[in-house]
Amino acid sequence: MDEQALLERVAALLAEHPPASTETMDFLHARFDAGLAWVHFPEGLGGLGLPRSLQPVVEKALHAAGAPDNDPRRIGIGLGMAAPTILAFGTDEQKHRYLRPLWCGEEVWCQLFSEPGAGSDLAGLATRAVLDGDTWIVNGQKVWTSSAHIADRAIIIVRTDPDQPKHAGLSYFVLDMHDPGVEVRPLRQITGEAEFNEVFLTDARIPDADRLGEVGEGWKVANATLSSERVAIGGSAFPREFGMVMKVAETWRTRPELRTAETHERLLRGWIDTEVARITATRLRQKLAAGVPGPEGSAMKLSFARINQQLSALEVDLLGDDGLRYDSWEMRRPTHVDFFGKDAGYRYLRAKGNSIEGGTSEVLRNVVAERVLGLPTEHRVDKDVPWKDLPR
Ligand SMILES: Cc1cc2nc3c(=O)[nH]c(=O)nc-3n(C[C@H](O)[C@H](O)[C@H](O)COP(=O)(O)OP(=O)(O)OC[C@H]3O[C@@H](n4cnc5c(N)ncnc54)[C@H](O)[C@@H]3O)c2cc1C
Repeated sequence: MDEQALLERVAALLAEHPPASTETMDFLHARFDAGLAWVHFPEGLGGLGLPRSLQPVVEKALHAAGAPDNDPRRIGIGLGMAAPTILAFGTDEQKHRYLRPLWCGEEVWCQLFSEPGAGSDLAGLATRAVLDGDTWIVNGQKVWTSSAHIADRAIIIVRTDPDQPKHAGLSYFVLDMHDPGVEVRPLRQITGEAEFNEVFLTDARIPDADRLGEVGEGWKVANATLSSERVAIGGSAFPREFGMVMKVAETWRTRPELRTAETHERLLRGWIDTEVARITATRLRQKLAAGVPGPEGSAMKLSFARINQQLSALEVDLLGDDGLRYDSWEMRRPTHVDFFGKDAGYRYLRAKGNSIEGGTSEVLRNVVAERVLGLPTEHRVDKDVPWKDLPR
């Protein structure tokens, strides 16, 4: 199908379901069923099996017609991480069950990976699942779980065989966040908000039918999720001078009295770095269209974090005393990260988390060193030792 045929399909959707007189959810269902949700997904699963590069054609035409969207910021983890993993590892039944409510925003997803004792060394995690008939009984604690307070489902990685080395004894599931064994508690951040949580699992139940991939192959499935996460964080499509640099350039243009030679130099460097990252992300998306995300996503996420932190610091410096203002320290429970609806102080503080979430910058440098540059790997002494014998 070419661009013209795709636009005709969009026009047919709009004619049958005029946005002005159609309920939002009805419109989103119809859009999904017409294959116009994510055109690179297979037919019958919200897509048309087309190149990912055609998606902007659909978005532009629907936006121009005033069509509602699925509020992608609220369901970012589902779209960016759960969906590609389900597509790659789910059974047909799972794909049909999960993807439509996920894309339409009827079900919000979160990611239960990190634990108090396992973040960068995720494969060392201790949350245990034991099979009882055809149901897994799960006990343990997860932490830093973004959106758990609004989530209906979670992708979760747990230990199903402690006798195996740490990477081999893991399995990957979809967890119903409304299960009585799931308790979500807020964690307050440096911004004052609690956008993430700790999640306690006490005899939480997961039917074996909700497993993604084989028992013991959870690490392979989790790696697909983590690659997608890095691409989702660092590889999005933006116009020129968008994001953090847009905010700083805005301040620069509207407040000439704040300018100095030093801040001018910093702004130019940030502007160029942003532009280089934007163009590199375009190349990454072209590679993505041809297959699964590779380690390049790690490099993009790495530069996204560095640029965000440098530019948000520059904005605070530029604003002088005004940069120290902070709109509210009330604890809030946001449904998504809103970098640009808030003040410079919020951006500065929230950007600190960019070099931790989705893999720390130190760990991503290791990934780039080993998998992109082919440098010698880190010494890993615990690779072949049964997980139960590892010191913790
Ligand atoms: C805003 C935010 C949102 C998040 N959302 C989620 C979520 O939704 N779901 C989820 O599961 N997790 C989430 N996380 C958790 C995140 O993935 C972890 O914090 C991250 O992987 C780091 O793990 P850790 O905090 O245990 O730090 P650690 O792994 O204990 O690292 C501590 C320090 O040691 C360094 N370090 C560790 N290993 C190495 C190494 N091999 N080489 C060099 N340096 C190393 C790290 O870079 C870091 O500086 C979120 C985190 C943040 C900040």
